[in-house]
Amino acid sequence: MRFLLVGAGLSGAVIGRKLAEAGHECRIIDSRDHVAGNCHTARDQATGVMMHVYGPHIFHTDDQGVWDYVNRFATFMPFQNRVKSTTQGAVYSLPINLLTINQFFGKTMRPDEARDFIADQADLTIEDPQSFEEQALRFVGRPLYEAFFKGYTEKQWGCSPTELPASILKRLPVRFNYDDNYFFHRFQGMPRDGYTPMVEAILDHPRITVELSTPYDPAMAEGVDHVFWSGPLDGYFDYQLGRLGYRTLDFERFDHQGDYQGCAVMNYGDREVPYTRITEHKHFSPWESHEGSVCYREFSRAAEPGDIPYYPIRLVQEKALLEEYIALAERTPGVTFVGRLGTYRYLDMDVTIREALDAGDAFLSCLTEGRSAPAFLTSPR
Ligand code: UDP
Repeated sequence: MRFLLVGAGLSGAVIGRKLAEAGHECRIIDSRDHVAGNCHTARDQATGVMMHVYGPHIFHTDDQGVWDYVNRFATFMPFQNRVKSTTQGAVYSLPINLLTINQFFGKTMRPDEARDFIADQADLTIEDPQSFEEQALRFVGRPLYEAFFKGYTEKQWGCSPTELPASILKRLPVRFNYDDNYFFHRFQGMPRDGYTPMVEAILDHPRITVELSTPYDPAMAEGVDHVFWSGPLDGYFDYQLGRLGYRTLDFERFDHQGDYQGCAVMNYGDREVPYTRITEHKHFSPWESHEGSVCYREFSRAAEPGDIPYYPIRLVQEKALLEEYIALAERTPGVTFVGRLGTYRYLDMDVTIREALDAGDAFLSCLTEGRSAPAFLTSPR
C-alpha cells in the first residue's frame, strides 16, 4: 500500500519506518527544510557547537524498547541534565533537592529533618491538588514555590499557576537527597551526532521517500491509501473552528568565548527577568570541546498564526475547542492524527516514539483485520 505521512519529526519517521519495514511505500513530506521537527540539531558553522535549534532536547526514558530503538539509529553518549536556577539573587540546584533546601533556608538538615521541615511549610489543607499552584503549595510550601516555580511558570505559560493543571508540576521531582539529576529515568543520553542524523537514519529505508520544504496540499492525498498527520490538528482543518492555543518560544542568540555559564541550562525564577532560561549548547555535548560558545536566551509567548507551536496550552477553553476538533477528525475518514501536534499534547521524545511504535503496530493490525484505521490511535484527551 501507499501512505502519505505529513511531518518528518519523530512521529512521522518512526511510523514511516514501521510501515516501510512491513512492505509499504511511504512518502513523507515536511514543510521545513530539515527532518526531526523541533528536536532538529545543527552544527554552528562559526564555533562548531552542536545546536539544539528549537531549544534543549534531552533524551530520557524508562522504556527499554524505546531505548533499544533509538540506539539502533544513533550512538548515544551519557548525558545527565543538571539544571541550575538563578532566583532571588542566588544560584540553586534543581530539581529541588536537599542542597537546594539547605542553601535556600540556610540550614544543614539531613534527609529526614528536611522532609519534616518541608512538611511544616506545606499546606496540608490541600488534600487533592488540582492546579499547579495547589500542587506546589501542597508539596513544597510557599517560599520554595515563589522562588522557583511561580515566576518561571508565569513567564513560561503566560497565566497564573492557579489556572494550570497540577500535571505540569508533576514533571518535576522533589528530592530529599543530593541527587540533582533532573530526570529519574533509567536511560538518559544524547545522540553523539545530534538528533537530525538519528531521524535521517530512521528514514533511511528503500521504501521511504522524504520531501523537504514541501507543504501539504490536499491533492497529495489522492491515490494514497491512508494519511498520517503529525502537524497541528487544527491545521489539518485550516483552523475552521478556531485555533488551538500554543506557547511558542523566541531564542535570542548570543556568542561567548570560553564558558558562559558553566552548565547547559540555567533557569531564571524571578518574574522580573524576562526570559525563562539560558541554554549554553556546547554543554549538551560534553564529550566535545569548543573554545567558542553559543547561548540562547529563551522567551515564551502566545503563538500567533505563523509561529512555530511548542507547548499546547490545554486550559478549559482549549480543551473545549479540542473536543470539537476531535469530533471533526473522527468524522474524517482516511487520516490518522499522531504525535505532539496531531494530538495536541505535551509529549516528551520517548513518549512520542513509544506512541509512534504502537500506532504503527495498531495500524498494521487494522490492515490485517480489514478495519479502517481510526482518527486517533492514542487519545488526545
Ligand atoms: N518549572 C518551574 N521552574 C523551573 C522549571 C520548571 O516553575 O525552574 C515549571 C514550569 O511551569 C515548566 C514545568 O515546570 O513548564 C515543566 O518544566 P520542564 O523543565 O519539564 O519543562 P520543559 O523543559 O519541557 O520546558
